[in-house]
Amino acid sequence: MAEQPRPSRVEKVLVIGAGVSGLTTALELARVRENDKPRYTVQVVAERPADQTVSVIAGALWEFPPAVCGQHGNQLSIMRSKRWSVESYKEFQKLAQVRGNGVHMAPTNFYFGVKIEDDWLEHTKMRELKKLSEDEEIQGFRRMTEEDLKKVPASFGVKDGYQLQVPAVDTPIYTRWLREQLKQQSNVTITYGKRITDRLAPQSAKIRADWGVDAIVNCTGMGAAELAGASMVPLRGALVRVPVARFPSRPKTAYAISKTAHQQDMVFIVPRETHLILGGLVEPSEYDTHIGKDYQPIKEMFDRNKRFAPELLKDVNLDDTDVDVIAGLRPYRVENVCVEKEYGFNIVHNYGHGGSGFSLSYGCAREAIGLLESMEGPSFRVVDLRPAAVHQHPDTYADLETPDFTTAQLDGQEVSVEQPIYH
Ligand SMILES: Cc1cc2nc3c(=O)[nH]c(=O)nc-3n(C[C@H](O)[C@H](O)[C@H](O)COP(=O)(O)OP(=O)(O)OC[C@H]3O[C@@H](n4cnc5c(N)ncnc54)[C@H](O)[C@@H]3O)c2cc1C
Repeated sequence: MAEQPRPSRVEKVLVIGAGVSGLTTALELARVRENDKPRYTVQVVAERPADQTVSVIAGALWEFPPAVCGQHGNQLSIMRSKRWSVESYKEFQKLAQVRGNGVHMAPTNFYFGVKIEDDWLEHTKMRELKKLSEDEEIQGFRRMTEEDLKKVPASFGVKDGYQLQVPAVDTPIYTRWLREQLKQQSNVTITYGKRITDRLAPQSAKIRADWGVDAIVNCTGMGAAELAGASMVPLRGALVRVPVARFPSRPKTAYAISKTAHQQDMVFIVPRETHLILGGLVEPSEYDTHIGKDYQPIKEMFDRNKRFAPELLKDVNLDDTDVDVIAGLRPYRVENVCVEKEYGFNIVHNYGHGGSGFSLSYGCAREAIGLLESMEGPSFRVVDLRPAAVHQHPDTYADLETPDFTTAQLDGQEVSVEQPIYH
């Protein structure tokens, strides 16, 4: 595959994919202005509109990495994800102040089966969340008291917990809102029903000529297996939806218990404008989304949530006709979430968000735009890869491990780095 010349300037961009990643990237691109004019012309192409993607299935409760569903071990990747999630939190927090977009801030109780101090990962995560809350980057961190914990049925073995104000997204309303925002931008066109086939890189020049663009952003979720040759693994999930009209007053608090990501022991209860969402299913490498009320793990998931909140769900049964089940595949990439440039082919990737596509959406979109900018011109430049959060919160990140690499690919060339790129 011959490398292609870098564009002297990226002005016209094709975004492939219209789930939350594609729509957010397209909207953020469309909003970039230079000299009082839109900086980019954006075309979105997707096989399916958002209301037919996994993005509309998502529980869409914001989460701070490492993610429960689709956890990565790579520390550099987790650090980047943390920055993306905080950036997204701030954007959702602003959106929650405006009506009509499906975003609201929900007090969310996170429970744990051990004392948090006894679990290195959860302890680190909690300390970071507390610090972010003290710095007012996120809102409402509160450690639970013994009295709070006693309210959870004893059979769940809950030993600890904290509460946060967390963005909760009503996905049908929010993805419709994203599409409407895009329609209002004069510099955006959207084409649905078109599938791009085969690896993007070898046909990048042709695709760019056909669409009249300088660069491509790949936001295809599971589709990246074909378009980027990515190691995608579906993490099948399902949600039970109960109309909020069933409750005397609209439920306000969200609840999450996850002792392990792969044993089916999760409790996940999220109130939305129209429905109360019950979830917690994670089944790796299962592709079939035609699962419903008769599927045993869904019955168990419903029963678990009902045992957790017996008072709230006392009159709700899985076979009630107004209670439905939806299922989808979280697009998990084995190595990490992929927000990367494909060197020499004028492609930026933004896929593989697993169970965190909403939580990371704005941060990833903005980083993808930064990567488009860094494609321009012939010069070789060394970029500072240290996430801004490392500079801003040195104490918070002090005990994270130093990544173990001594070479890096920068703009297609292998360079040696005598020191790790961040420490
Ligand atoms: C049960 C469940 C619960 C979840 N809960 C949460 C949660 O609480 N918080 C959270 O942040 N996330 C959650 N998620 C994860 C979230 O849904 C995903 O991470 C996110 O929707 C991924 O969005 P995406 O835009 O990258 O991919 P998708 O929504 O899959 O969109 C991909 C787009 O690319 C298009 N496409 C693919 N291949 C091609 C091709 N070859 N040619 C043209 N177009 C193509 C598709 O048609 C589609 O438009 C959950 C998911 C599930 C299933």
